[in-house]
Amino acid sequence: MSPTENTATPRLVDEAAADAPLGAVAVRTLCDFAARRGDLDLRFTPSPSGSEGVAGHGEVTSRRGAGYQREVPLASQWHGLRVQGRADGWDASAQRLEEIKTHRGDAALIADNARALHWAQARVYGWMLCEQLGLERIELVLVYFNIDTGQETPLSETQSASALRAHFEDLCERYSGWARQERAHRAARDAALRAMAFPFPEFRAGQRTLAEAVYRAHAAGRVLMAQAPTGIGKTAATLFAALKAAPAQGLDKLFYLTARTTGRQLALDALARLGAAGQAPTRPVLPLRVLERVARDKACEHPDKACHGESCPLARGFYDRLPAARAAAAQAGWLDKTALRELALEHSVCPYYLGQEMLRWSDVAVGDVNHFFDIGAHWHGLTLEHGWQSALLVDEAHNLIERARAMYSAQLDPAAFQALRRSAPGALKTGLDRLHRQWNALAREQAGDYTVLPEPPGPFTAALQQLCGEIGDHLALHPQDATGGPLQAWFFDALHFQRVAELHGDHSLCDLTRTPHPAPGTRVAQPLISLRNLVPGPLLQDRWSAVRSATLFSATLAPMDYVADLLGLPADTLRVDVPSPFAGEQLAVRVAPHISTRWTDRLASLTPMADTMAAQFAAEPGNYLAFFSSFDYLAQALDRLQQHHPAIPVWAQSRGMGEPEREAFIARFTDSGQGIGFAVLGGAFGEGIDLPGRRLIGAFIATLGLPQVNPVNEQLKARLQAKFGRGYDYTYLFPGVQKVVQAAGRVIRSEQDHGTVWLLDDRYARAEVRRLLPAWWVVDRRPLG
Ligand code: SF4
Repeated sequence: MSPTENTATPRLVDEAAADAPLGAVAVRTLCDFAARRGDLDLRFTPSPSGSEGVAGHGEVTSRRGAGYQREVPLASQWHGLRVQGRADGWDASAQRLEEIKTHRGDAALIADNARALHWAQARVYGWMLCEQLGLERIELVLVYFNIDTGQETPLSETQSASALRAHFEDLCERYSGWARQERAHRAARDAALRAMAFPFPEFRAGQRTLAEAVYRAHAAGRVLMAQAPTGIGKTAATLFAALKAAPAQGLDKLFYLTARTTGRQLALDALARLGAAGQAPTRPVLPLRVLERVARDKACEHPDKACHGESCPLARGFYDRLPAARAAAAQAGWLDKTALRELALEHSVCPYYLGQEMLRWSDVAVGDVNHFFDIGAHWHGLTLEHGWQSALLVDEAHNLIERARAMYSAQLDPAAFQALRRSAPGALKTGLDRLHRQWNALAREQAGDYTVLPEPPGPFTAALQQLCGEIGDHLALHPQDATGGPLQAWFFDALHFQRVAELHGDHSLCDLTRTPHPAPGTRVAQPLISLRNLVPGPLLQDRWSAVRSATLFSATLAPMDYVADLLGLPADTLRVDVPSPFAGEQLAVRVAPHISTRWTDRLASLTPMADTMAAQFAAEPGNYLAFFSSFDYLAQALDRLQQHHPAIPVWAQSRGMGEPEREAFIARFTDSGQGIGFAVLGGAFGEGIDLPGRRLIGAFIATLGLPQVNPVNEQLKARLQAKFGRGYDYTYLFPGVQKVVQAAGRVIRSEQDHGTVWLLDDRYARAEVRRLLPAWWVVDRRPLG
């Protein structure tokens, strides 16, 4: 197969193949589905990039003589299925068909399942050529071409046309059975979605407005930004509307993306309410295949093993058992983490990789934002490869700015590099020393503690690229060094740095930060090298254009220009701001005009803050959350409250809290409880937690949540000023107040809730800040008394 061949799964009903009732399928897809055998094998095998693969094919075919035909288009019909593709090369005089595969490292290390796939492709092309030319026999050659050495490793076999035909028909039979089932599923799914009713007796206030906006946007193939208050049922409304719009859109996949694990569960609960989850023996009322994707380390059954058949029993024979597991999973339909795990273990296959396979056959996939937005994100890649009509629902979309910045940023730490130099195999010494010298050169040229470079330093990145090539070659020849050790970990970090460096532009910053001491083994304190994405928008544009429609929703998406600018949303993005169903009387919003939480006033703020909290607590005993901009400030405020008002029960968030500690923190908020939980703004308790009724009756918010003023943020401000003319607002004010509104949003969760929010800073009295607070808040500036 040529790397330029279209491997997309053609739509099952394809106008281009109207003569084929089951549609058209690419040779690669057919073989991928029906011909893989043996183990899952994900041992490190450095593979050529797409462009290297194309160049490699060109190199091999240029070596062939006159009369050699390249990229031979072939097609064959089998009972309503049209199979099509391009064979890499055909030498008519020798009656030899070649299938070319480029690789790096030792050809003998190519995994068995990959080799089986390559042979299957060669044999399918072989049959199609025999059929087309009326040949009795044909020689098939699988040519492995090492793109680094230029060496060809040919594997050859001669097959009769009848044997090839039997092979072809066997694959087609298995695939067409599946295609028929998929066609029936799709028809049933779309009919059920058209008839689907909203799963609650009535819409909540605002919920219908949101659902209608989502439906219209998705039906029209547009992007929508939707701000809607907490508690109106955003998850159910967006899922219902996007699914309702799916049949008319010809939608293949709906991706529901969240920034937090809790959001995933909410989506699954809403899908279950819509009827997608059935409990045996009752079948789900909605024939919708739902898949939950989790990170590999969360799905792995054997974390002490590696993903290949010699190490992990669930990788051994994976492809032999995959067809039965896949059929059972498609039949089950509902594949949340637990159901997928049970089904995978029943069939003795890895749950994580079964989930990866089932993404192709699912209607709704629920996962993290990085599944679609990360560099090289799998769901985005599959959408392009298969030409899927996909739609996105992005929950808590305000988080996407920071998450995307992190996805497109990278750092190289000199301490990790020096540790690698000490432990790496001797064969890599020259390359490591070369990079070390370049790192020292950067240290010598660095003028101050923090230096911004106009672009990633050329000699450094060239040395890094060369070293990565050498490490890749080394790992290919010595796979035992690629089993999760420090060399492989550093290599992956370096590759990520390279990829980010290749994307560098005015959306990003390259800087050097001086480290305090030379790392062991060096005389010079080498700098930390950072590539920081500042504006993810330009890098996300291909994601917005890859989908048919999208809705980004959140309780805090304002100001929408800020979010749209930073995420690079299309100019015709629709917007809806759903009014809150809550009344001003439900929430007493109090400002403390006598408190300044500016950096220089922090010490002076501690006592008045403690007194304000104590007075509120005395006036209305119950559960409160108190938010601070940092753990240090939190600790100081907690200390002062305990000194001056020791009777008030308190508990506090700590750095790096694990899941059990977080649960214990939340468990303190009981209906009959009293006390103040101290937490940091923008942290684990600043959003995504639900404490209705008496479980939380108020919040204190110290500071405006402004990010720290430091050299990096000042660079960000300058860049955002240059790009959007809103440097301060986009860097400090808007993200800060978004965190404040999110945190305050913990207090009122329903139309029955009542509570108090204290905004502990005089700047909340300013008009430019007040404008950013929710319209339904009625701010009371009277002091407590
Ligand atoms: S169970 Fe774990 S080690 Fe085994 S194949 Fe799956 S992810 Fe890899």
